[in-house]
Order: sequence, then C-alpha cells, then structure tokens
Amino acid sequence: MSAQDNTFHGWVCNGKGQPLEWRELSLKKFEDDDLEIDVTHCGICGSDIHTLDSGWGSTNYPCVVGHEIVGVVTKLGKNVTEFKVGDRVGIGAQCDSCGECHECKNGHENICRTGMTTTYDGRWKCGDKTYGGYADKWRGNKNFVFKIPDDMSNELASTFFCAGVTTYWPLKNHGVNEQSHIGVIGLGGLGHFTVMWAKAMGAKVTVFSSSDRKREDAFVLGADDYVVSSDSEAVLARDRQLSHLVCTSFGNNFDWLQFLSMLEPNGVFIMAANPETPLSNIPAGILLMRQISIVGTAIGSPKTIRKMLEFAAEKNVKPWIEKYPMEKVVDAIQDLRDNKARYRYVLQRN
Ligand SMILES: [Zn+2]
Ligand SMILES: [Zn+2]
Repeated sequence: MSAQDNTFHGWVCNGKGQPLEWRELSLKKFEDDDLEIDVTHCGICGSDIHTLDSGWGSTNYPCVVGHEIVGVVTKLGKNVTEFKVGDRVGIGAQCDSCGECHECKNGHENICRTGMTTTYDGRWKCGDKTYGGYADKWRGNKNFVFKIPDDMSNELASTFFCAGVTTYWPLKNHGVNEQSHIGVIGLGGLGHFTVMWAKAMGAKVTVFSSSDRKREDAFVLGADDYVVSSDSEAVLARDRQLSHLVCTSFGNNFDWLQFLSMLEPNGVFIMAANPETPLSNIPAGILLMRQISIVGTAIGSPKTIRKMLEFAAEKNVKPWIEKYPMEKVVDAIQDLRDNKARYRYVLQRN
C-alpha cells in the first residue's frame, strides 16, 4: 500500500475562528472491520458549525466536519461481507460504539454507556482521530455504514443520516400515530423533516416559526396549521392541542410556559435542538399538573436508521435540499449561518 492510499483530502479547520483549508490528512489505520468510500455528497448540519466554532466545548483541531456522508465503496476489510465495492452507502453522526454495554447489546448503540464515537472530533478504538465527510474519502467501521435504497439518490440520501434520523427516531420512540398532533418548533433542516415524518405517520402537524416567511413552505411540506410563535393570541387558541412538541430550534428567549401550555395532559416535549447553554426557567407547575415529560433524543441506532430508510422509500419522503459544490463549502456555511437554507445544504463532489 502506498503512502497515498492512507491519506485523504478534506476541508480542515485548524483552530477556532480559522478558515477551512483543503489539505491532506491521514486516514485511520485500515482494520479488518473497516471499509473505505469515495465521498460523493455530504450534508451540512448545524452540529458542524457548533464544532468548527468550539461551541459545545473545545474541539480537538485539526478537525474535518460533516456527518451526513454518502459515497461509493472502494475498499473492504477482511471481515466485511455485507458490502461490495461499488455499493452506495451512507454514514451518520455516529461511527462506532463500545459494543459491550447493555445498550449496545440490546440494539441501542446510539445511547452507548461509554458514549458514542462521533463521526468527527472523536477517536476510534485504535486511538486514531475520526474525520467527517467534507472530504474526498472516508474510512471506518462497517457497523455504522448503511446501504442506500435503490430508488434514493445519493444527494437526497445524505440528509437522512443526521437530520432524518434525529427527527424520525423520537416520533417512533414516543409512539406517534394517526391520533397524534405534533407541534414542530422551527422550520429548518430538522423541522422540515419532522413535518414530513409526522405526516407520513398519519399525524396532524402544527408548525411554529419566528416569522411568517415559511408559511407557504410549511403547507407544501404537509403541515395542517402554522403559527408565528410571537402571536400570543394564536398560541393561546391552541391550548392543550398537541400530543407532542418537537423542538428543533431553541432561541435565547424561549418561552417555556407558552409552548408547554399547548401540550395536552401526558404530552411530551422532545428536545431535538442542542443549544450551547444550559436550559433554564422551565416552570415546574405545568409539568406537574399536566404530567408533561421533557425528553431528549439522540440520533438513532443502526437498526433505526435501516428502518427509517425503508420507511422513507415506502412513503416517498423527500427532503428539500440545495446543492453546493464541495469547493464552495465556505459559502455554504456562511449561507447556513445567515439562515438561508431551504432546508438542507448538501455538498457535492464533482
Ligand atoms: Zn447533524
Ligand atoms: Zn456501548
């Protein structure tokens, strides 16, 4: 194997606030359970920006982000029989887990007790760093790699691996069905997926957004109702309507009481956003009196990801994406920071 076979090129961030630079880094050690892909697409997730910015704590630079990775298999380790060269596959936000804890043994690898190995800014068991998909190649463990359904394009498939599963799993996990009425806070990458999943599961959907700008999109996506969050009269009129409220966007002045008041008794508030500061000012009274649960959600297990892909293919769930050439990553990130995405950006390699 030549030296070049063990390196890749990616958009590297060398430190907080520093510009991305396209350069060469080492791939992880090639192990028997590994496979390697040529990246064709990578979605851009809000997590990428939090990590580039060290917003969730110090990032271990140099870092290559991107965890909605899709590509074509080019190389297989000795133990990899599930895939063949040429298969179209994807990788999400988790690339490994301990494999030995109670959760891993019971198909809940996403909540592994030793913590999931994140697809970037993490470390493989062998000690090598994990690098994401703003890159030409990706190499890693087969257990967190997924075949893309035949009738799904690579560009659309990419966004399912983080945004898709992050919103599909909590709805499944909390029993959403035809009787449910789902409130979706924020119509971005996660929010627009939540609307489509909830509709595909037969639920009713109300979208809450900070302005009127996305009203039309919300209805095209399938929403039944749209509320501008600052319109307190409109909010009041929806008292106790919702069975579940999925929070995909959490601003500084989040009005807990306002949102919780729209949940019916035994309602579930699902936190799918991960703000950089702790939650505060949650009123206990309404939680008690209505037996409301506030729950977290963490992507989804490998089994869930496979089921999601099947369900998406069956129900024809198609995310709204906008493509950028991989070279234009800096523009894409800026446009995401400026809140221009409708609703997910995907980097494409030529
Ligand atoms: Zn993500
Ligand atoms: Zn584990």
